[in-house]
Amino acid sequence: MNDLLLKSYLKSLRLPTMAREHQAAARQIAEENGTCLDYLQLLAEREVNERSQKAAARRLKEARFPVERDLSDFDFSAVPSLPRQTILELASGDYIEKRECVVFLGPPGVGKTHLAIALGREACRKGARVAFYTASGLATLYAEAREDRELRALQRTIQRRNLIIIDELGYVPLTQGAAQNLFDFFSMCYERTSILVTTNLPFAQWPEVFGDERLTGALLDRLTHRMHAFAIDGDSYRLKENQRRKEGTCQ
Ligand code: ADP
Ligand code: MG
Repeated sequence: MNDLLLKSYLKSLRLPTMAREHQAAARQIAEENGTCLDYLQLLAEREVNERSQKAAARRLKEARFPVERDLSDFDFSAVPSLPRQTILELASGDYIEKRECVVFLGPPGVGKTHLAIALGREACRKGARVAFYTASGLATLYAEAREDRELRALQRTIQRRNLIIIDELGYVPLTQGAAQNLFDFFSMCYERTSILVTTNLPFAQWPEVFGDERLTGALLDRLTHRMHAFAIDGDSYRLKENQRRKEGTCQ
């Protein structure tokens, strides 16, 4: 067997994992008294696994999550009002296939952003393309793109994603321009892309933030069409944690 030749074949077929591991895998299969087909399967499996891991890493990077948060480090016992099973089901990504929306509504510190990032990361691992924006960040991106006549490019980028996360809708009152931009965004995604929103604002107060009853009515119509909404109440997790730690050190 000409190893150099084999390596160059595998390289031109773009099978770098096979090119790297074919010798070690051959030794392993020989030790296990495996067949040629076992060998081929082992190598193909490694190539596929590495490729899907790399693709998931690329999607995680592309999503631009501000921090790493996962469902495995979310303490559901701290928020008994949140249906754990339903959240875990969302992690399967079914809602993205159906282009449905998710809304986490609640006061600061109760874990809305944590859940949004965790679901987003899970979606990346399952093959979805995701983008994370804060509401004001997205409004700014739109404004800049309009100014630079690059709105089309931004819209195309957004349309290529399967899930868009909009964090902190309603924290900062929006200017009329920003509200219009966000409205355009929601309209564009309607029934095409899943949206996950975190907000501190009950829907009744959305007109105040968007500053336009008619716009907000239409927006809510679109958003609530097949929506998974979770109202999280309770105290800030961070404050509770700090308190717990302080109490712990006093004992
Ligand atoms: P919100 O977006 O609702 O203001 P965050 O998701 O930013 O809150 O939560 C604040 C901090 O507390 C984050 O570091 C988050 O990871 C943590 N946190 C909040 N709720 C929980 C929870 N139930 N389990 C574990 N960590 C939590
Ligand atoms: Mg938040």
